[in-house]
Amino acid sequence: MPELQPFAAWMAGFKTRIDEQADYLTDLDRQIGDADHGSNMARGVQAISEIDLDAVPDAGAYLKKAGMALVSKVGGASGPLYGTLLMRMGGALPEGEFTREDFLAALRTGVEALQARGKAEVGDKTMLDVWFPALEAADSAEGSLADALAAAAAAARTGAEATIPMIAHKGRASYLGERSKGVKDPGSASSVLLIEAALEAFGD
Ligand code: ADP
Ligand code: MG
Repeated sequence: MPELQPFAAWMAGFKTRIDEQADYLTDLDRQIGDADHGSNMARGVQAISEIDLDAVPDAGAYLKKAGMALVSKVGGASGPLYGTLLMRMGGALPEGEFTREDFLAALRTGVEALQARGKAEVGDKTMLDVWFPALEAADSAEGSLADALAAAAAAARTGAEATIPMIAHKGRASYLGERSKGVKDPGSASSVLLIEAALEAFGD
């Protein structure tokens, strides 16, 4: 299994970003949801930070534990969705050294499991509007994992902006119908942070 350290750095970077932007995430969710996305995610990343790294054998096990922490500690829809992503990515990482393709394939396995759980499609104004364009950009980018993640981060930011004019068809925001237009999807905004943290942790 791959080394634990960069994966722990990834989650630490995610926590830093979530803590910085929790109020912003909650404000987006106040406009089209129930004003808890920032506090949900802050609780989740706090739980991940409490994982005892000495008690985790490898990166796959670490991501599984991180995912379980999100499922058990985050009340909102986002906890089980992000939790599924990380648990399934952890299960899909190969043993030993991993290549750029291994990392991206494991991430895709996680995102597809998230989609299976939430049953949303691209265009429904959910975090999938960030994840699928990000994966596509990563797969088409030339070069190293860092290059792929840089392309993914750029596509993620564009994908999150693109949710602004969308009408939500899944999750709480869908209760608003047409009135969900004009606000960025909160889960898309937090997904950008997870991808930016990956770029920082796995960049050259
Ligand atoms: P809740 O909606 O239960 O209050 P959060 O506010 O923490 O949970 O998370 C809301 C985010 O979860 C949304 O902005 C959206 O990105 C994501 N989400 C909600 N439902 C789905 C779904 N079915 N598939 C994918 N993502 C979803
Ligand atoms: Mg909410």
